[in-house]
Amino acid sequence: MKFRFLCLLLAIVGLSACQYPSEEWRNLPVSLAKPGLWHQSHLTWRLDTLAGVPAGMLQADVEREVSKSFRSWEGAGVFRFDPSAGGKADIVVGFKPMPGTVSDGPAGNVARSAYPWSAHRGHIYLDPAEYWTTASFSLFKEPISDWLPHEIGHSMGLLHCREPGQTMSEQGPYHLPDEFAFAMLRRLYCPGTLVLSETGIVPTDPPRVVEGRAQASGRGPG
Ligand SMILES: [Zn+2]
Repeated sequence: MKFRFLCLLLAIVGLSACQYPSEEWRNLPVSLAKPGLWHQSHLTWRLDTLAGVPAGMLQADVEREVSKSFRSWEGAGVFRFDPSAGGKADIVVGFKPMPGTVSDGPAGNVARSAYPWSAHRGHIYLDPAEYWTTASFSLFKEPISDWLPHEIGHSMGLLHCREPGQTMSEQGPYHLPDEFAFAMLRRLYCPGTLVLSETGIVPTDPPRVVEGRAQASGRGPG
């Protein structure tokens, strides 16, 4: 069986978000004014149609799975997600390598995404070399819904947690977000909690860089 893993980085600093009892998360207030994080509760997404979808997949089916992955986070009570009505979107999902990286072929790094405090925020990259499927389960292919919710978590600002078997664990495939993942997100967006980057430095809000004119600025999370 092939060895699949995501996110070689960031294993160290994701632990704090997992240390709050999950039953308390519903009482945590939400702040949309924290530096480095998103500042609106309604986020739009779109599929990068220029990058296209893998051979044998229908765009409509891919968009269905992408929508399901985004909406899986709505139970946290922090964000609502909708497909964008026009060309602009807060988060763009594309089957292509992250700028500054190359595809490593099937297995290895399955996907990458940019943190909201990074220059490439709002971009999620699915490795086009993987054997993707829009099915919910497959023995031999990678269901989008097994990987994209994890990357959406990074795009909202979540790091890895130490616990295995969670949406934000280090290694995938991952299941859809549950109470544990919701607790992580609510704590991240709770007023006064620390926002950590992979280097441990509290981030500030950078100017957003539009893809195509972006300067390659290092790797994002896996
Ligand atoms: Zn990751």
